[in-house]
Amino acid sequence: MIVGDLKTFDEIAGSLAGFERVLVLGCGGCVTVCRAGGDAEAHDVARELSHPRWFSRSAPPLFEVRTIERQCEHDLLRAFLPLPEGTQAILSLACGVGVQIVADVFEPLPVLPALSTTFLGGSDEPGVWREKCKGCGDCLLATTGGVCPIALCAKSLLNGPCGGSHDGHCELGPDIPCAWVRVYRRLEAQGRLDLLDEVRGTRDWRKAGYRGPRRRSRTGVALR
Ligand code: SF4
Ligand code: SF4
Repeated sequence: MIVGDLKTFDEIAGSLAGFERVLVLGCGGCVTVCRAGGDAEAHDVARELSHPRWFSRSAPPLFEVRTIERQCEHDLLRAFLPLPEGTQAILSLACGVGVQIVADVFEPLPVLPALSTTFLGGSDEPGVWREKCKGCGDCLLATTGGVCPIALCAKSLLNGPCGGSHDGHCELGPDIPCAWVRVYRRLEAQGRLDLLDEVRGTRDWRKAGYRGPRRRSRTGVALR
């Protein structure tokens, strides 16, 4: 899922200065699961920002709160969201993808982000989300025991650990496991250490998006 973090109220309020009616828009997708931008958080944000302490030069805006299933789809936005009368701006609690789709759909209405999108991750213990994938476009997990060295190694090394690996930890600190030690231990447990004999050559990073925004189209998904 996409994991995001709520911006400070100072920053959010600063971006809303001058607007009198603001729609606070939660997203029912990833940011609901990671407790950053769902319906509960949207109501919390609207409640907090209604306090005059965040707006020194004028009264706080009037906030309306809505949440839709996903902000990252034009069709869902168009079908389910008539804007409340008089809306001057939207404060989106979606990831950066959702914010941009909302801005496209409701152009030229200003759409402001309430979150900073941080990483693609998952929850491997309750209430904790960790980065797992960088969307490289050419997954190599089949040969690394299901541990991603691109996302989990600080240097995204492809052929084993650097010289800073120590006692299973990354040179960045004792609280960060060395990704390549994890790869080794996983493959060792699987009896597949031979996979490490193969040297990975230069990767085609264009698949990771370094040659402009990526796009995919699939058939059979258009609404009738
Ligand atoms: S190898 Fe690439 S696609 Fe696979 S988990 Fe790592 S970053 Fe994601
Ligand atoms: S210590 Fe391990 S995880 Fe850290 S940068 Fe070196 S190889 Fe990558």
